[in-house]
Amino acid sequence: MDLKEELVQIIRERFDLAPEQCGDRQLYEALLILTGRQTARRPAPEGERKLYYFSAEFLMGKLLDNNLLALGIREQVRELLACWGRNLDAVEEQEPEPSLGNGGLGRLAACFLDSIAALGLKGDGVGLNYHYGLFHQRFADNKQRETPDPWIEPESWLIPTGTSFTVPFGGFELRAVLWDMAIPGAYNDRANRLHLFDVEDPAPAPETGIDFDKTAVAGHLTSFLYPDDSDDAGRLLRVYQQYFMVSAGAQLILKELEERGYGPRELADHVAIQINDTHPSMVIPELIRLLTGKGLSMDEAIDQVRRTCAYTNHTILAEALEKWPLHFIQRVAPQLEPIIRELDRRAKEVSSDPAVAILDERGLVHMAHIDIHYGYSVNGVAALHTEILKKAELKPFYDLYPEKFNNKTNGVTLRRWLEACNPDLTALIDQCINTRWRRDPGRLVSLMEYMDNDHVLSQLVAVKQSAKERFCRELREAQGVELDPNSIFDVQIKRLHEYKRQQMNALYVIQKYLEIKEGRLPEYPVTVIFGAKAAPAYVMAKHIIHLILCLQKLIENDPAVRPWLRVVMIENYNVTWAERLIPAADISEQISLASKEASGTGNMKLMANGAVTLGTMDGANVEIAELVGPGNIYTFGAHSDRVIHLYDDKGGARYRSLDYYHTPRVERLVDFLLSPELLAIGDAAALAALWRDIKGKDWFMALLDLEEYISVKDLAVRQYGDRKAWARKMLVNIAKSGYFSSDRTIRQYNEEIWHLG
Ligand SMILES: *Cc1c(COP(=O)(O)O)cnc(C)c1O
Repeated sequence: MDLKEELVQIIRERFDLAPEQCGDRQLYEALLILTGRQTARRPAPEGERKLYYFSAEFLMGKLLDNNLLALGIREQVRELLACWGRNLDAVEEQEPEPSLGNGGLGRLAACFLDSIAALGLKGDGVGLNYHYGLFHQRFADNKQRETPDPWIEPESWLIPTGTSFTVPFGGFELRAVLWDMAIPGAYNDRANRLHLFDVEDPAPAPETGIDFDKTAVAGHLTSFLYPDDSDDAGRLLRVYQQYFMVSAGAQLILKELEERGYGPRELADHVAIQINDTHPSMVIPELIRLLTGKGLSMDEAIDQVRRTCAYTNHTILAEALEKWPLHFIQRVAPQLEPIIRELDRRAKEVSSDPAVAILDERGLVHMAHIDIHYGYSVNGVAALHTEILKKAELKPFYDLYPEKFNNKTNGVTLRRWLEACNPDLTALIDQCINTRWRRDPGRLVSLMEYMDNDHVLSQLVAVKQSAKERFCRELREAQGVELDPNSIFDVQIKRLHEYKRQQMNALYVIQKYLEIKEGRLPEYPVTVIFGAKAAPAYVMAKHIIHLILCLQKLIENDPAVRPWLRVVMIENYNVTWAERLIPAADISEQISLASKEASGTGNMKLMANGAVTLGTMDGANVEIAELVGPGNIYTFGAHSDRVIHLYDDKGGARYRSLDYYHTPRVERLVDFLLSPELLAIGDAAALAALWRDIKGKDWFMALLDLEEYISVKDLAVRQYGDRKAWARKMLVNIAKSGYFSSDRTIRQYNEEIWHLG
C-alpha cells in the first residue's frame, strides 16, 4: 500500500471522513498513527554490543516533523496535505511538546538518540515518563509563575509494551511500567527505542501550581522532573525517582541480555551503559546487586559492571555534583547500602585520599565517585571542560586512572537544528554545495568557496531577514508583542543561572537605555531576546527574570527608547520556541563565566543558523573560536585559568565584587536596579535583593567582565552595519558548524567508548 492509500485508510477508519473534511487535529492524529505504524515495522539495528543511554532527561521536542524526516516521507506528506488544501506546519502545531527534559543535558540526550539511530547503531535510551515536565512557565506581575506542563494525550508517541518490573523500595514496592517511543534512523530502515518507565497509577496534576504531597511517592514518582529539593521530602523523592529508573532499567537490560541468548557473565561483552550525569549512578550498585543475585561473586559482578559502565560529566559546579546522605539510600533502597559500603571499602583500598572517597566522613555518598571508580570511561563534553576535569576538578581521579579520561565535544543533530527548523537556509546551502552535507556535515566547509560571491551573500541576508519576519509573526500571535525585524536580534536562550550571566546582559541593556535617554543613539536598533526558565526554588534566578521583565516593561512604555532598544522575554522557552527563534538570531549570546559552562549546545545550534557568537572563552565556545577564526566571533572576558585562580582562596586572591562595583560606569548600572523608574514597575524587595547580591557578592563575577562585554557588544552592533562583511561572518559560521554535528560526536563515542560492533 502506498503512503496516500495508507493515510486515507487511517482517516476513514478512525474518523469516517474523507481527508478534505478533516481538521488539523484529525490530520495530526492520523499522521501520528501512520508514522507509528511505519516505525513499528522497522527492526532494531544489528550489533554485538547494545548501548543503553541512561538519562534523567530527554528533551525530545515535538516529534512529528522529525519522524517524518527520518522516515523520508516529509515532503511527500507535505504535498499530499497541500492537495487536500492543508498545511503540514499547521498540522504540526497540534502536537504538544513532550515535557521530559529541562535544558542542555536533556536536549543532548535527545540529539544523541537521533544520531545513534541515524548511524544505524544499536542503542536505546532509558528514562522516566514524567507527566508534567519541569513546569510550564507564565509571566504575571513581571514574575515567573509555574504550572504543570501536561503533554500525554490519549493519542501520543508513547507505545505500551506490556512489560513491567517490580522495583523494591524500603518497606514497599512499585511496578515500573514500560512505555516506549520509537526512534527511527534517518538514513536506514531501522529504529531504536526510548524506554520510559512510569508508575502504574499516576496521580493527577496538582490543583494549583506545582506543589504536591512529595511523600505520596507511589502516585507522584513520575509527576515532575526534578521535584523541588529544598526540603528532605523533595530530596528523598529524587532518590526514589533515580532508583526507580535504574532498577527497572537494569532489569530490562538483564532480561534483554537473556533473550539474546547470553548469560550474566557475558554482560560486558554485549552491553554498554552510558551514565548521563550522576542521576543514573545507582545503576552501578543495582546491577552488582542483580548480578550477585544471579550467582556471580562480588568480584565477578564488579568486573562485569566496570567493563560495562561509562560516565559523562556535565558540570563542574559543585552544587550540581550529587551527594546523597547514606541514610536516604538506606531508606529508599536498603538493599544497596551494603553494596555501596563494599564499593567504598574497595575504593579506599585503592586510595586513602579523602578526595576520592565514595562515602565521606559526613555520611554522604558521592555519586560521581561511584561512576569514576566503577566505570571504564569518564568523559567531559568539550575540550576545555575535559582539561579542567583532569587538571582541577577531578585531578585526584585523573592521577589514579588517567586511561579512563577522554573528551567528547558535544554536538547537535543538524537534521532538527538546521534542516527541519530552517528550510530556507537548507535550500540555499543545497543550492550552493549539493545535498551531501546532510549526511556528512563536514562538507559544509565547502561553503567557504562562496565568501566572495555577492549573490550568495545577499541571499543569506535575505534568508535571515525572512526568518526574523516569521519569528515576529509567531511572537505576535503567541504573546502579542510586536518587534522590529530590521533591528539586530541579539539572543540569549538557555536555562536561567547566575553562571550563564543573564544579569550581565541585563546590565548591558541598562547601559544602552541610559545612553539613549541621554541622546546617544546606537548605530543600529537592537532587540535583546531572552528565553529562560528558572528552577522554582532558585530565588536569585527568579530575581533576574524579574529584572529582565521590568526592563522589558520600562522600555515598552518609553517611546523615545523603543525604536532603538527592545527587550523581550519569551514565555515558556522550550524546544519549539528554540526552533522558531534560532533561525532568526543575529547574535548568539554565550557569556558564561569562563570555566563554568561545560560545553553549551545552544551555541552550536545558533552558529549553524548563521548567528555570530558573542561569548567568553568557555565550553565549546573555545572550539568555535578556533574553527571560525577571530574575525568571525566576538570574544571577551577573563579566561578560565584566571577565574579558577580568583576562586582559589588559598592564595588570598579571592574575587571581591566591590572592587569592580566602585568604578563610575559600573556603579551607575548596578544602582539602576534601585532607580525610581524600575521601582515604579518592579518589586522593591526582589530588586534590592538582586542589587545587594550583585554589588556585594557576585559569585559568578558578572562585574569582572562587564565593561569589556559592553564594549565588545557595541563593536558587534557597529560592525553589523556593514551588511556584506556580516554576511561573510554568517557564512563562515555555517560552514564551520559541521564539526558540531552530533553524528560526529556519536561516531567518537562509538569508536572510543562503546565499540558497539
Ligand atoms: C539547546 C537547548 C538548551 C541548551 O542551551 P545552552 O545554551 O547550551 O545552555 C536549553 N534548552 C533548550 C530548549 C534547547 O533547545
